[in-house]
Order: sequence, then structure tokens, then C-alpha cells
Amino acid sequence: MSLQYSDPEIYQIIEKEILRQQRNIELIASENYVSKAVLEAQGSVLTNKYAEGYPNKRYYGGCDYADEVENIAIARAKLLFGSNYVNVQPHSGSSANMAAYRVLLRPGDKVLGMALDHGGHLTHGHPFSFSGMDYQFIPYFVNRETELLDYDDLEAQAIVHRPRLIVAGASSYSREIDFRRIKMIADMVDAFFMVDMAHIAGLVAAGLHQNPVPYADIVTSTTHKTLRGPRGGLILCDSKELIMQINRTVFPGIQGGPLMHIIAAKAVCFKEALNDQFKLYQQQVIRNAKTLSNSLQKLGYYIVSGGTENHLFTVNVKKSLGITGKKAEEILDLVGITCNKNTVPFDDEKPLYTSGIRLGTPAITSRGFKENEMKEIARLIDQALKNSTDNAFLKQLRREVYALTDKFPVYEG
Ligand code: PLP
Repeated sequence: MSLQYSDPEIYQIIEKEILRQQRNIELIASENYVSKAVLEAQGSVLTNKYAEGYPNKRYYGGCDYADEVENIAIARAKLLFGSNYVNVQPHSGSSANMAAYRVLLRPGDKVLGMALDHGGHLTHGHPFSFSGMDYQFIPYFVNRETELLDYDDLEAQAIVHRPRLIVAGASSYSREIDFRRIKMIADMVDAFFMVDMAHIAGLVAAGLHQNPVPYADIVTSTTHKTLRGPRGGLILCDSKELIMQINRTVFPGIQGGPLMHIIAAKAVCFKEALNDQFKLYQQQVIRNAKTLSNSLQKLGYYIVSGGTENHLFTVNVKKSLGITGKKAEEILDLVGITCNKNTVPFDDEKPLYTSGIRLGTPAITSRGFKENEMKEIARLIDQALKNSTDNAFLKQLRREVYALTDKFPVYEG
């Protein structure tokens, strides 16, 4: 029986979510719209299959097709990122990071990671995350004036602390990260080097961001952000010895059976990312982020670090308008523009309030928005934030948002 009849309650919620995704302008930098092919693979009967282990070494029978799917996913990921070895089983970016840490570290080891309020991720040492509980994370920062990653400070900290691992990668840093430079610092102090490229994986795949694979001992990623695949994780490395440890750590170390439907959807996503069209898409993602950031800057908004070189940027709304990121997020939500509050470097607001909002272009670019739409979105954001007490005006803006998104169906047909 179809979902509509077997569970109308859930069916209707999903219908409402389809409408929300269609009508709203989605500016959450870590989200995207997957292709219908990815959705189809993810919703396939492969969800029924247990396949603990790895291709040709499974703990269950009936894994012939699971093996085929996983081998294809691995081969495509190797090709896409130029990596010798790949594990496609992590259920998420966080599990990929957990596995990588467990391979490279012992509990209590020192790790240098980008400060969370400067752009790093929870799994880079937040005290409530396993990472901050199990290891001794020491943050590195952006420069107070330029708001750019301070490689000299990172080097100085590495020399003082002699960490066992340096982690690079971020959730809200709008500039290209120089992995080569960080690798040199890691070598200087004899530390391992790991890159979490979750946010920029799509840009890396398209050759539009320095590829960390030649520099890092282990590269982790999610597959659902710029890479535009299903929600999931990925681990890459160039050493046979390390991949053997990674594989053992992912299963049986921290996970049970792999999600074969998700691995099939990852394979589909990697095939799409190997296509020339994907490069054009990522080029447009960056052009759109630059146009949106420049347009807001022209309207008087303070953009952290003065601009962007990738798919996202942070607006310091407190400096621009004297409101918190939380307030800005709520106002924009009223007009159908979805984004998230975000700390800015050296933020004096609490994490639940923040001084900034993070804006990203992967999702809106997937639905076909280009530079003209970015200028229009900047105007809509500006008008909403400056007229937040005028309900009738906000309603009018919401109609304008819907008129814009109506012209760009997320899923046609
Ligand atoms: N690493 C980075 C840099 C991220 O931005 C994220 C998610 O936002 C993750 C890891 C975690 O990914 P997941 O939500 O799949 O656990």
C-alpha cells in the first residue's frame, strides 16, 4: 500500500515539506537538492539488505549486488578525488570524523582544530561532542583584523603544543584553505594531518578548490552538502595501512551494517559529480555566492572577511543593523528565506543568539538561480531586515519570494 494510504499523517507532512522546499529560498550553506536519480537510489529496496563487512568479505549471504554497488561507489569516489583508497560506509560526517580520530589518536591526545566560533565544526572539539570529550582540542583562529585564517598563529600554536594531529576544514569559512601550508606545519612538528572537507567536497571534486588528498593523511567528508548526494559520510586516504585501520574502525569499530541504499545513492552522486555539467554547476555556485555577498555589501552589510571564494559567507548583522543572528534568522523565515544564525569571529553574543547569519548558494544554484536572482535575493533580505515590524510589508515580500521560487521548480514533472 502506498504511503498516502498506509500512513496519511506522515504522507501529509512530507507533502508540506515538499511545498516548503519548493516555495522557500534555501540559503542554508550545508543543504542542497539532490537529483531525482539520487532520491530513487536512496528510496530503493537496498534498504532491506544487511551487508556487514566489506565487498567479498561479508558476514551475511545474498550480498552479490551489495558488493557490486559498494565497489562502484568506491571506484567512482577514487576517480573523483584522485585517492588511492576510500571507505563509503560512514553514516554521516560525524561518524567519518570519529573513525578518523580513532585511527590517528589515543584518548587524551592533543589536536589542533579551527575554533568553532571562527568556522570550525562541532566534531572539531566542542566540549559536548565526543571529539571534545575524548581528545584535548586546542583551537586555532582567524586574524582579528582580516578575519582570514591565521597560518602564522597556527604554526606558532603547533610549535608550542606539539599536537598529535592537526585538523583543517570548516563549516563557515568563506575562503580557500591552503592545505599545502598546513601540511608543512604538521610536518614541522611531526603531527598527523586530517582534512574534513565536508563543506567544500563539491568544489574540490570540480577542481575549484585545492584538493586535500595529496596533503592529508586522512580526508573525511559528508556527501550531502556541495557534493549534492544523499546524507552520509566518506573517508579517503592514500595509504594501504591506514585504510585497513579505517575499515576496521568504521566496521565493526563504530558502526554495524552499512546503509546500502545510501551507498547506492552515493555512487549515483559520484557519477553525477564526474560529469562536466557538475563543474559548470559548481562554478555557478561560487559566482552566485560572490554576487550575493557583493550585493549585500553594496547595501551596507558587513561581510565577514570582506567576501567569499567559495559557496558561503557570513553576514555580521549585529555590526550591520544592531540585531542578533537569531533575530535576523527569524525575520527572514517570515518572508520565506531560510538561513541559519552563526557566530562571527570573536563574537560577544552567546551561540544561541550570535551576531551573524551564514548564507550559502549550493541549493538555490541547483534549482537554476543565477546572478540576477542573487541581486533580487539581496534586495529581499535587506528590505525584510529593515522593515521587520511592518507585517503587511513582510507579507508582500513573502509573495515576492514565492513569485520568484515559482519560476524555478525544484523537481520538474
Ligand atoms: N564536518 C563539517 C565541516 C561539517 O560542516 C559537518 C556538518 O555540518 C559535519 C562534519 C558533520 O556532518 P553530519 O551532520 O553528517 O554528521
